[in-house]
Amino acid sequence: MNHTRKLQNRFESALMANYGTPPVAVAGGEGCVVWDVDGARYLDLIGGLAVSALGHAHPAVVAAVSRQVRELAHISNLYLHEPAVRLAERLLGLLDADGRVFFANSGAEANEAALKLVRKHAGPDRPYVVAAHESFHGRTMGALGLTGRPTIRDPFGPFGGDVRFVSYGGADELAAAVDARCAAVFLEPIQGEAGVVPPPPGYLRAAREICDATGALLVLDEVQSGIGRTGDWFAHRREGVRPDVLTLAKGLGGGLPISACVGLGAYGSVLVKGDHGSTFGGNPVSCAAALAVVDTIERDGLLVHVAEAGKVLADGIRGLEHPLVAEVRGRGLWRAIVLTERCAAAVEGAARDAGFLVNAVRPDAVRLSPPLILSFEEIRSFVTALPSVLGRTAEARAGAL
Ligand SMILES: *Cc1c(COP(=O)(O)O)cnc(C)c1O
Repeated sequence: MNHTRKLQNRFESALMANYGTPPVAVAGGEGCVVWDVDGARYLDLIGGLAVSALGHAHPAVVAAVSRQVRELAHISNLYLHEPAVRLAERLLGLLDADGRVFFANSGAEANEAALKLVRKHAGPDRPYVVAAHESFHGRTMGALGLTGRPTIRDPFGPFGGDVRFVSYGGADELAAAVDARCAAVFLEPIQGEAGVVPPPPGYLRAAREICDATGALLVLDEVQSGIGRTGDWFAHRREGVRPDVLTLAKGLGGGLPISACVGLGAYGSVLVKGDHGSTFGGNPVSCAAALAVVDTIERDGLLVHVAEAGKVLADGIRGLEHPLVAEVRGRGLWRAIVLTERCAAAVEGAARDAGFLVNAVRPDAVRLSPPLILSFEEIRSFVTALPSVLGRTAEARAGAL
C-alpha cells in the first residue's frame, strides 16, 4: 500500500465524509507545482480553489508570515494592531473609496457580516433580499440561505431570512424582483461555483441602477473574483459600478485564512460597537500575509500578467479545436473549459494522471483557477498535454459504453 492509500484510510476513519476522500494527499508545494506523499508532482491549476494567489511557499508570504508570527500571532479584538489597520487602508485605497472594513476568516463569514449590515440598515420595512439562482455565497446558515443551488441548500432549510431568487444575468427579471421592500441584492460579478459564468455586459450596471431606484443595497460577493483573479483588482471594475458592500476572501491571504466585508461610504458605519465580531478575524499573521499578497501583485505587475496569461490560456485551448471542447468561459486566470459532454469528472481524472490538477466544477465544465504567477511555459505545457488528456477521456467513455 502506498503512502497515499494509507493516509486515505486514516482520513476516512478520522474525518467526516463531507469532502469524500480526496484522490491526492499533498505533501508540499513551490510556485505552481505541488507534490504528493508518494513523490508524484502536479501543476496546480486549481490554486487551492482560487486561494493560492502567489502559488505555494512564495518568498514574500513566507517572509511576512514568519516575521509576524515571531512578533505577534494573535491578540484578539480587544486590542488593535497595525497590520489590520494597514490592510484596511490598503483595501480602501485599491477600491479608491471611503468606507470601513471588517475582517473575518472565510468567505461565508464575510457574507454573514454583509447580511447583518444589510439587515440592520434596512430595518423591518425591507424584509427580503434578492440573490441569484446558481449563486454560491458560503455554507453557514445565513450565507447558505443566499446560495441558489438546491443540491447544497435543500437538506438544511428552512433558513432565517426571506430570500428571493432570480436568474443570473437577467436585468428585467431583477428589476421585477426588487422594490422598496427589498433590503439588498447579493450578486457575484462572475459566478464562480456555477462554472465561471460571466453575466451579459451591462448586467452589473443595471443592478446598480435598480438598487439606486429602489433604495436596496448592492452587495457584490468578490470572494472568488477579487484581488486580481480576473486581471483587475476587483471584477466589478470592468463595468465601472460601485457596490455598497463588498466581500473578499479566497485570494486575499495567499493561503492564510482571512476575509473582509467592506462597507463603502456611509455603509461602513452601519455596524457599531457591539454589533458584530470574530475572535480570530483579521489576526496579525493573516493580515501580514494579505499585505504581502497585495504588495507583490502590485510590485510584480501581476494584474497585467493575469490578463495576458489568461488570454494565452483561453486562446490556446480554443485553438485546439477539440471536439470535446464547446467553449472557454471566464476572464483572466479564472476559466471554465466547457465540454460538449457531461464528462468533466473524467477529464479531471485524466488530467491528474497526466500531472495537472484541475477541477470538475460542473458535470460539463472544468475550472482553472491557478496561481496568478502561472508562467507562459506552464500554460504551454498544459495546452500541449490537453489533447491527449481529452483523448483518454473519450477512450475511457467509449470503453464504458
Ligand atoms: C468560496 C466562496 C464563498 C465561501 O467562502 P468560504 O471561505 O468557503 O466560506 C462565498 N462566495 C463565493 C463567491 C465563493 O466563491
